[in-house]
Amino acid sequence: MRLAIVNIGRIVTGDWRNPFVGGDTILAAAGRITSVGTASAAEVSSADVVIDADGTTAIPGLIDSHVHTTFGDYTPRQRTVGFLESYLQGGITTAISASEVHVPGRPTDPAGVKALAVAAAKSFEHYRPAGMRVYGGSIILEPGLTEADFCDVAAQGVWLAKAGFGAVKTPFDYAPMVAWAKAAGMITTVHTGGSSIPGSSAIRAEHLVAMQPHVSFHVNGGPTALPDQDYPVVIEQTSAALQVCTAGNIRTTLLCANLAHQMEVFDRFIIASDTPTGSGVMPLGMLYTVAHCASLTALPPEWFLCAATGSNARTYRLESGFLAAGRAADIVLLDAPGGGATTTALEAIKNGDIAAVSAVITDGVPRLVGRSRNTPPGMRRVRVVECRVPRDFSG
Ligand SMILES: [Zn+2]
Repeated sequence: MRLAIVNIGRIVTGDWRNPFVGGDTILAAAGRITSVGTASAAEVSSADVVIDADGTTAIPGLIDSHVHTTFGDYTPRQRTVGFLESYLQGGITTAISASEVHVPGRPTDPAGVKALAVAAAKSFEHYRPAGMRVYGGSIILEPGLTEADFCDVAAQGVWLAKAGFGAVKTPFDYAPMVAWAKAAGMITTVHTGGSSIPGSSAIRAEHLVAMQPHVSFHVNGGPTALPDQDYPVVIEQTSAALQVCTAGNIRTTLLCANLAHQMEVFDRFIIASDTPTGSGVMPLGMLYTVAHCASLTALPPEWFLCAATGSNARTYRLESGFLAAGRAADIVLLDAPGGGATTTALEAIKNGDIAAVSAVITDGVPRLVGRSRNTPPGMRRVRVVECRVPRDFSG
């Protein structure tokens, strides 16, 4: 399918160093962005579907890098069906598993954690709830796993590993397993801060330094934060991405945002929700954390949209996350909510408001056009103005 989005007011690229690109049009074909900025009348008129953005702001689809998926569109922790479909209505086009720790009766032996990760990874390979990309299958590190085990699951499509919920004597015991997972080509992630479930232990800066993971999960606390003095240590003595989560500590979220800027590591600052958890199902979690960071720091709102998109994509080596030719065509149109103090999505976010989600496109296919069922309605009227495929995109 060929898609054209015209009359875009502002285009946020997903790259915080170069957050804007000029122009008002995005073209996509066969699931990929083919051009960003300008397009000829012939290119627009040859599209199967044309969306009039009516001056709204285009951003890459939000990437939530900390979602507790299990199997299907169901969360056992909050007994909720259809939560991923609802997250898409919050502008989230990609969900990355933070490990299937909520599976009832989850196994803890090496064979069991391997089987769980492989099954979860494979089960989401072809299942896209409402069009969302879901990366399932993060192997939970447990004592007894060997170097060969990581090669084995990696060969079966598992590329995520999670330390923090295993029956280790001390978190230092994760270090060799994290090294094996990295050697097998996996992205390694580590619970950070106080323990979140019974039986797990607190993980501090010294443990992260020993493990050197790719991602410090909920570095702001999940939900219990590190002592403040640990943050500069994590920044200086590891190269881990600093993942801040909605279901954490907001004071340390802001502390991390400001430190990432001051210590010149904003590339490593990434946003996620860490839901569904005890904190609930939060379809607008990503938009809330973007708004909290933008409104309560002096930093520009577009930086936080990039931290929620391109910076996650770079950390997790995804093809989405940027509005640029060749990238996966996952695109969201945001607007200022009607009746507020502002007139553009970026102004609304800086004001601390939840932006209106006016369209969500994944894989080059519109999934909702008009208004989200979860956000306030926008000021502008985004609509399909040309449709040559037998579908209704009203969401
Ligand atoms: Zn979590």
